[in-house]
Amino acid sequence: MKIKLNEIPEDGRQYSLNRETAELNGTLEDLISQNDYKISLDIRPLNSRDFTVNGQVSTKTHEQCSRCGQDFNFGVEKTIREILIPTQEQGRTGKYAKSASHHVTDADEEVSVTEYSKQQFDLGEFLHEAIALEVPFNPFCDDCLQPENNKAFIYDEKMGEEQKPNPFSALKGIKID
Ligand SMILES: [Zn+2]
Repeated sequence: MKIKLNEIPEDGRQYSLNRETAELNGTLEDLISQNDYKISLDIRPLNSRDFTVNGQVSTKTHEQCSRCGQDFNFGVEKTIREILIPTQEQGRTGKYAKSASHHVTDADEEVSVTEYSKQQFDLGEFLHEAIALEVPFNPFCDDCLQPENNKAFIYDEKMGEEQKPNPFSALKGIKID
């Protein structure tokens, strides 16, 4: 589902997508199977080139528990706060050209940036990735997440992100008289 950004009016356009409106049924099928989804988004120009995408995604992905193997639905509730910018032509190898999405922190709210090209934004692909990112690498069903089982199966949601060492940690334990 591609959005022609040059057709978005100045005061924005609202999108309401679900299984009945069916636009994304095929795109999301490998993630959510036949589960319901409710996506409401507002896309509007920020300036002459950039756009904001704000909204909410509510669905359940179809998962297999990595502990007991049973199929279960993993609830996804995600707030979308995205800024779309035109692809930066870097020329040569351009290290920015490869990663389409960068995360920046705006005060205490996380906003991420996605590049678009040719005045088109692939909303389906964007939402597919946004939902997929919410699913932990090793998902556990509700039974395996019961409090008594919890301790052994804590997973780190930050796993994979670069762990930045605290420059002051080396100072811990040093006693100053
Ligand atoms: Zn399980």
